Amino acid sequence: MIRRNLAEIAAMCGGQIREAGDAGILVQGVVTDSRQITAGCLFVPLAGERFDGHDFAADCLQAGAGACLWARSKGTPPGPAVLVDDTLIALQALAKSYLTETGAKVVGITGSNGKTTTKDLVYALLSTTYKVHKTKGNFNNHIGLPLTLLAMPEETEIVVLEMGMSGRHEIELLSKLGEPETAVITNIGESHLQQLGSREEITRAKLEILAGMKPGGLFVYNGDEPLIPRVLAEPSTAKPEGLRTATFGLQPENDAYPTGILFTDNRTLFTPHGSEGETPFDLPLLGEHNVTNALAAITIARHYKVSEVAIREGFSNVELTGMRIEVVVGISGITILNDAYNASPTSMKAAIGVLDHMKGYRKKVAVLGDMLELGTSEEEYHRGIGEMLTPGKADLLFAYGPLSRQIAEGAKKQMDPDCIFAYTDKSELIRKLVSLLHPQDVVLVKASRGMKLEEVVEAIKTSE
Ligand code: ATP
Ligand code: MG
Repeated sequence: MIRRNLAEIAAMCGGQIREAGDAGILVQGVVTDSRQITAGCLFVPLAGERFDGHDFAADCLQAGAGACLWARSKGTPPGPAVLVDDTLIALQALAKSYLTETGAKVVGITGSNGKTTTKDLVYALLSTTYKVHKTKGNFNNHIGLPLTLLAMPEETEIVVLEMGMSGRHEIELLSKLGEPETAVITNIGESHLQQLGSREEITRAKLEILAGMKPGGLFVYNGDEPLIPRVLAEPSTAKPEGLRTATFGLQPENDAYPTGILFTDNRTLFTPHGSEGETPFDLPLLGEHNVTNALAAITIARHYKVSEVAIREGFSNVELTGMRIEVVVGISGITILNDAYNASPTSMKAAIGVLDHMKGYRKKVAVLGDMLELGTSEEEYHRGIGEMLTPGKADLLFAYGPLSRQIAEGAKKQMDPDCIFAYTDKSELIRKLVSLLHPQDVVLVKASRGMKLEEVVEAIKTSE
C-alpha cells in the first residue's frame, strides 16, 4: 500500500501541507471510513449524503491516523493535514500519481454482468506469472477504484480494476484515472436500463472504458453482442490511437470461442479454440456465461504471454467473491444455487441455464424474485423470464415480489399451473417452499439485491 511522507502526499494530490514542520510525517495506507482507521494511515474525509467525514477527522487522528486530507472550506484541521480544495478529487489524484509511480499496468473490466467474476478470473490467471493486485469485492466506483490503487503493493506489475457505473460518464472518469492498457467488456445486459433508456446507451456508457485507454491498447469484448462493434464505430466514441481489438464469445466467429463444453454439477470443462493438447480446461464455475467470462480472461492472459500450463493452473486456483452462484448444501442435503446477490434479465437467463444443466436431482426448483430498475418494460422482462422456464429447466417455480407475478404468468405457458407459486410475503413463501423440498432437490435462488432472497437461502439451508 502507499507509504509516503506528507510532503510527497501533498505533491501527489496537488495539495499543501498546513504546517511545514509536518512534511516528514510518514503515512501508510489510505482510509475513508472513520471506523476502519489503521495505525499511521492517511484519513481522507469525504462528504456523503448523511455524514461529512471532516466531522470525524479529530477522532480518527486520536485513533491513530497519522494525518488527514482536509478541504480548505472546512476551516482549521484538527491535526497534521494536507489542505486541498476537494477531498474526493484529491483522493483520485493521489491514486493516479501512485499508480504512475509504481508503473503497474492496468487491466480495466466493465460490462453489465460478470465484471467481478471476470476480474477474479483474470487475477487468478495473471498471478501465476506476475505480481498482481485486484479490486477487493466490488470496490468499483469513483471512491472504490482509487482506494484499490492506493492499497496495492509498490512492486505490483499488473492491477486488475473492476469499473462499475449507474449512468453515463462514470466509466469515463474511471478509465481516465486508471488509463488501462487492456480493457474488457464482459457483456451488455439490461441493468440500469431505467436510468439510461436503451441498450445502445448502455453500450455507449460501457465503451467509455476506452476514453482513458493507453495508445495501442487491447480492447477485449464479447463478440456475441452486435451492439459493441456498432457503437465502437460511432465517430463520437472516444478511443485511443492504434486501438487493437480481440473478441470472445460462444460463436465461432470470435477470436476466442469454445470448441466443446461439458457441464457437470460442480464445474465446467471446456476447450478454447487454439489450445494445446486434447485435455479440456477445468473451470470450477457453473454455466455458459462463465465460459465466456473465462474466455475473456484467457484472452487477457494470452496477451500478457501467460503460458497455457499456467492458465490451466490459474483456473484451478480461482477464488471468487461470494454469492455469485454459490453451490451450498443445506443440513438436510438439499443443493442450493445461491445467486441472491443480484439479478437482471441477462443474469437471470444465465442462472436458469445453470439450473438446466443440473442433472440427477429429484426436482429442480426456481425461486425467482423481482429484478429492479428495468424501466418501462419491466413487466415484459419478467414475463420473458417466466416463458423461458420450459420443461427440464424447472419443475417448481416460486415467484417472489409484485413484478415476479409476471414471471409466474409467463411460466404458465409451459409449466403445470399447480407447480407455480407466487408470493409477496416472504415468510409465507418460505413456509410453503420448505414444506415441499426434499433432500434430493436442487433450488436456484435469484433476485435483485433489494429483494433480500438470502433469507430464503438461509431458511432452506437450516431446514431439516
Ligand atoms: P455488479 O454490477 O453487481 O458489480 P458484476 O458485473 O460484477 O455485478 P458478477 O458479480 O461477476 O457481476 O456476477 C453477478 C451475476 O451475474 C452472477 O451471479 C451471474 O448470475 C451473472 N453473470 C456473470 N457473468 C455473466 C455473463 N457473462 N453473462 C450473463 N450473466 C452473467
Ligand atoms: Mg461486481
